[in-house]
Amino acid sequence: MRYSKFLLPTSKEAPSDADSTSMKYMYRAGMIRKVSAGLFYYLPYFNMILRKVNFRIRRGMEKLNSNEMKFPILVSQEILESSNRWNAFNKEMFKLKDRNDNGYAISPTNEEYATLVSNLFVKSYNDLPFSIYQIQQKHRDEIRPRNGVVRAREFTMKDAYSFHADEKDLHDYYKLMGEEYTKIFADLGIKTFPVLADSGAMGGNMCHEYMAISPEGEAEIGFCDACGYAANLEKVECKDIYSIDGTYKNKYDKIETPDAKTIAELMNMLQMEAKQFVKSMVYNADGNLVMVLVRGDRNVNEVKLANFLKATNLELATEKEIKSIGSVMGFVGPIGDLQNVRIIGDFEIKGMKNFVVGANEKNMHLRDVDACDIKCEWADMRFADENDVCPKCGAPLHVSQGNELGHIFALGKRYTEVMDSVFVGNDGKNHVPFMGCYGIGLERTVASIIDQHHDEKGLVLPMSVAPFKVDIIIVDTKKENQVKTAEELYNALEDAGVPVLLDDRSERAGVKFNDFELIGVPIRVTCGRSIENGKLEIVRRDNGETVEVEIANAKDFIINMIKNY
Ligand SMILES: [Zn+2]
Repeated sequence: MRYSKFLLPTSKEAPSDADSTSMKYMYRAGMIRKVSAGLFYYLPYFNMILRKVNFRIRRGMEKLNSNEMKFPILVSQEILESSNRWNAFNKEMFKLKDRNDNGYAISPTNEEYATLVSNLFVKSYNDLPFSIYQIQQKHRDEIRPRNGVVRAREFTMKDAYSFHADEKDLHDYYKLMGEEYTKIFADLGIKTFPVLADSGAMGGNMCHEYMAISPEGEAEIGFCDACGYAANLEKVECKDIYSIDGTYKNKYDKIETPDAKTIAELMNMLQMEAKQFVKSMVYNADGNLVMVLVRGDRNVNEVKLANFLKATNLELATEKEIKSIGSVMGFVGPIGDLQNVRIIGDFEIKGMKNFVVGANEKNMHLRDVDACDIKCEWADMRFADENDVCPKCGAPLHVSQGNELGHIFALGKRYTEVMDSVFVGNDGKNHVPFMGCYGIGLERTVASIIDQHHDEKGLVLPMSVAPFKVDIIIVDTKKENQVKTAEELYNALEDAGVPVLLDDRSERAGVKFNDFELIGVPIRVTCGRSIENGKLEIVRRDNGETVEVEIANAKDFIINMIKNY
């Protein structure tokens, strides 16, 4: 490709709304331009890198005997209702109607189609295992699109689905898929590790996320150096290591706290630390009101709450709903004459004494409350943090940020059962197949490559993902011998199958060198003054190593360099 013809609009600055490192570099390296919140133009350089990622993923799927196909992007309401998912995605799924008023969704994931395809082709145990996948655009109505292409409203996903005669076969395949994921990301130059995660709207009984550590990552991971345990923070179990001291005594004071509704306002008014309060949050869980108690400096872990209640929809209660239980917004607490509300206290509160809670009266709180004064169910309702212990081995737990690149689920019979999948087993009887599903987000994979491979000057792309292996720079396009040497090497390398960017622009040499560093081509060849001595300068982008090579040997030298890069 000739740079003069290539749409590669590099720039010194990123726009002020580029809200992450990868987004800034993608913008500066001419890879993307924003259309509107969460929607982007993918420019050629980004597409070329995406294609490399795409190709590596395809190879992995072929190794696992998965068949590439394509499902429609639109899914009917009827199909999504057959698996009870028409309402499971809340507002994240785009929905629309056709001219006859039939409901459709733009599918955010395709378990239903995959199950229907399996129903078409799997008849007996001889047809299993059966695996299919696609690489396709996905759409989600993100509440707050952010981090550029990492959390966009449209993105590319590889989604694979497998079907098995028994659970052991599913778990074996799940394990192979996980191992292949680690290899795929490693080949693309990304360090990832699998963490135990929550399966959310997908259902099923086991899932792992493949996380790339990133200081700007949007997921929090709890991990243990001692035993290797790693889980999404929303999933890290906080053990019940507390016990209630004392018996119900009801000896607390009611105090006036005018207009102090938040923990911060109360801390200021009473001169107490956040840890000395208990927050009472009221939720509407599938139509039932639930009060959750956590220490004042903690947040309710809504994933744990939803799992505990087996609830699909969780929303904070309205002022009216809070009134209906006999309380007042801003002054809610677990003690008093409350109706129609289930109260769940976080385990940690069992170990607390002399704390402050809302008094269920306007401008009033209760002081010197002990855990033994509260009548409630106890459960794990908070997020683990740096001071907690590993739930597996008890060693100190650490917390770090990461980006989720892939997610694999052992779904079991969650879909196959409700969608009437059957096969004839080797016992001659009908059985329901076990199912797994396996996703990779392609744009966020590219974002993680950039996250892990850049310096202050720009990208330092690994050879495996670099669209051009070599950038030949003509220092002065007015010098005929420079142009001639560059063109000859360009043609020779292209003929040998090496993708080359030929910088034939009539720009200053400094601009060309800067762009080479910004877009991160692994090898630079400089056609400048040295060719008068019959030599070319060759520079590695990753370590800056520079050599001069005879022009006649340049092609072979570069091909060898690519092999050993
Ligand atoms: Zn551990």
